[in-house]
Amino acid sequence: MAASTHTVTNQPPPLVGHDVFAADRALVEAVDRHVAAEAGDAARDELSGLGRAAGSAEAHEWGAQADRYPPRLRTHDRYGHRIDEVEFHPAWHRLLDRAVSAGLVSAWGRPGGHVRRAAGFLVWTQVEAGHGCPLSMTHASVPALRTDPELAAEWEPRLTSTVYEEGLRPASLKRGVLLGMAMTEKQGGSDVRTNTTRAEPLARDGEYVLTGHKWFCSAPMSDGFLVLAQVAPATGRGGPTCFLVPRVLEDGSRNVFRIQRLKDKLGNRSNASAEVEFDGTWARRVGEEGRGVRTIIGMVAATRLDCVLGSAALMRQAVAQAIHHTAYRSAFGGLLIDKPLMRNVLADLALESEAATTLGMRLAAAYDADTEQERAFLRLAVPAAKFWVAKRCTPVVVEALECLGGNGYVEESGMPRLLRESPLNSIWEGSGNVQALDVLRALQREPSALNAFLQEVGKARGADHRLDGAIKGLLTELADLDGIEARARRLVERMALVLQGSLLVRWAPPEVSDAFCASRLGGDGGSVFGTLPHTLDLASIVERARAVA
Ligand SMILES: Cc1cc2nc3c(=O)[nH]c(=O)nc-3n(C[C@H](O)[C@H](O)[C@H](O)COP(=O)(O)OP(=O)(O)OC[C@H]3O[C@@H](n4cnc5c(N)ncnc54)[C@H](O)[C@@H]3O)c2cc1C
Repeated sequence: MAASTHTVTNQPPPLVGHDVFAADRALVEAVDRHVAAEAGDAARDELSGLGRAAGSAEAHEWGAQADRYPPRLRTHDRYGHRIDEVEFHPAWHRLLDRAVSAGLVSAWGRPGGHVRRAAGFLVWTQVEAGHGCPLSMTHASVPALRTDPELAAEWEPRLTSTVYEEGLRPASLKRGVLLGMAMTEKQGGSDVRTNTTRAEPLARDGEYVLTGHKWFCSAPMSDGFLVLAQVAPATGRGGPTCFLVPRVLEDGSRNVFRIQRLKDKLGNRSNASAEVEFDGTWARRVGEEGRGVRTIIGMVAATRLDCVLGSAALMRQAVAQAIHHTAYRSAFGGLLIDKPLMRNVLADLALESEAATTLGMRLAAAYDADTEQERAFLRLAVPAAKFWVAKRCTPVVVEALECLGGNGYVEESGMPRLLRESPLNSIWEGSGNVQALDVLRALQREPSALNAFLQEVGKARGADHRLDGAIKGLLTELADLDGIEARARRLVERMALVLQGSLLVRWAPPEVSDAFCASRLGGDGGSVFGTLPHTLDLASIVERARAVA
C-alpha cells in the first residue's frame, strides 16, 4: 500500500525466487569439475532442486523464524519428572527435514557423494546456518563409528538415511537419526586430554557408565552422542576413550542426560548448545580404550571440512546480498554497482568467496577420491583451510553488510544474522591456533602430507609468476623451522593462500585468478577490501558473482 506522505523508491526488491545453486557459477563449475560426467546431470538437477528451495520466500521465512524463536529448555514435565527436552520452533524441523531429505547427512559410500553433499550443504545452509551443526555432526560421525564394525552396521543406515524424524525414541525405532558430539569440558576444550568425565566398565564387554559433565554439547535433542571420557588404568588400558551415548535406551527408558542449561550465544541462535551432566549414564565404547582421541579425530576432520563449507556459505550469501543490493540501489546519479569504488569492494569480496568455495569443493573431492595421496593432502589442507577460510568469514560479512548501508545493520536484511554467525566456524572444532598447531604437527610427523600438498599447488606452477613467487617463498619459510610455533599462523596463512591461488589459476576465469594472484600473492592489495588494482577487470568479477532472481 502506498504511504500517504511519500512514494517508496530506490529500495531493492528482496533476493528471492532464484536458484541459489545455479546462480553460483563458481559452485556449479566445481560440481561439473569434480562429479564424474555420467553423474553430472543428476547432480545438477538435484542441487538445482535444493537451490530453488533455498531461494524461495518460504525457506527464507523458516530461516528467520528459527533464528527469531530460539529453542527452549524444558528440564521437567508438569509432574516434576526430569525430561531434559529442548523445544524448537516448527521452522527448525522444516529446515532439518529438507536438509536430511536432500542427502546432507549421507555422503559416505555414494559415488561423488562428498562433492554433492558439500555443494548441497553450501547451498542450503545459506538459508540458516544454525541447523548445519547437527547435519555436520551426524555426517561426520560415520568414520568414527566405523572403527567398530558392529556398531557401524547398526547405526550407519539410520545416520545416512534421508528421513528426518523428530522426537526422542529408541534409535532402532526411527528411520533416521541425528548424532552429536561432546568433548569440551569446563577445564579444557582444545586440550581434551584434560577431560575428567569418568567411564567405568559394566559386566558386558563394551558397555560402561559415565559420570561427569560436558561444557558444550550442541544439538542436545540428537538421538545419540559421541562422548570422550576417561577410563581408569586399573580397569583396563585406560585413558581418553570414545563412547556412544544414546539419548533413549533400547527398552524405551531415557538415558541419564541432564541438560543443565542452554548457552546464551552471540549467534547460532536457532541451534541449542547445552551444558550436560552424566550420572550413571549408559554408554557403549567406540574403538579401543585409551584411543578415544584417535577414534574421534575421524569425526573432527569431517566437521572441520564443514567449517570451511559453512564459512564459504556465509560468505557467498553475504556477497550475493551485497551485489544484489547495489545492483538496484542508486546514489549520486547512478547505480552503486557501477561506481568504481563500490565495484572494487564487491569484486574483492567476490574473490574471497570464490576462493573459499573452490577450496572447500576441492577438499570434498579428495574425500571422494579417498586415495593414499588424497588422504595425505587432506591431512594438511583441511586444518590450513579451516584456519584461513573461517578467519576470512567475519571481515567479508562485515564489509558486505556495509554495502547495504543502514539497511545492512537492520535485522530484516538478514545481514546481522550472518555476522553473528560468522566467527563461530573459527572457534569450534579447534580454534585458529589449534588448527595452525595441527598443521605443524602434520608437517613434523607426516612427510607424505607435505609432499601431497606441494604436488597439488605445483600443478599450477609456471602459469602465474606471482603464484610461482609465493610457492618459492613458502618453501623458504618451510625450510627454516626456527621459532616455528610462534610463526605458525603466518605459515598457515601462506599455505592456504598458495593453495587457493593454485586452484584458481587452474580453474577460475583469468580475471578472477589474475586479481587473486595480484592482491593475495603479489602484494598488490591493501588490508581492507576494495583495494584491488583498478586496472583489473573488476566488472567481470562482480558480474560472475551476481545472483539474479
Ligand atoms: C556455539 C558453540 C557450540 C559448541 N558445540 C560443541 C559441541 O557440540 N561439542 C563439543 O565438544 N564442543 C562444542 N563447542 C566447544 C568448542 O569446540 C570449544 O569451545 C573450542 O574447541 C575451544 O575450546 P575452549 O573453549 O575450551 O577454549 P580453550 O581450549 O581454552 O582455548 C582458548 C584459546 O586458546 C587457544 N589455544 C589453545 N591451545 C593453545 C596453544 N597450545 N597455543 C596457542 N593457543 C592455544 C585456542 O585456539 C583458543 O583461541 C562449542 C562451542 C561453541 C562456541
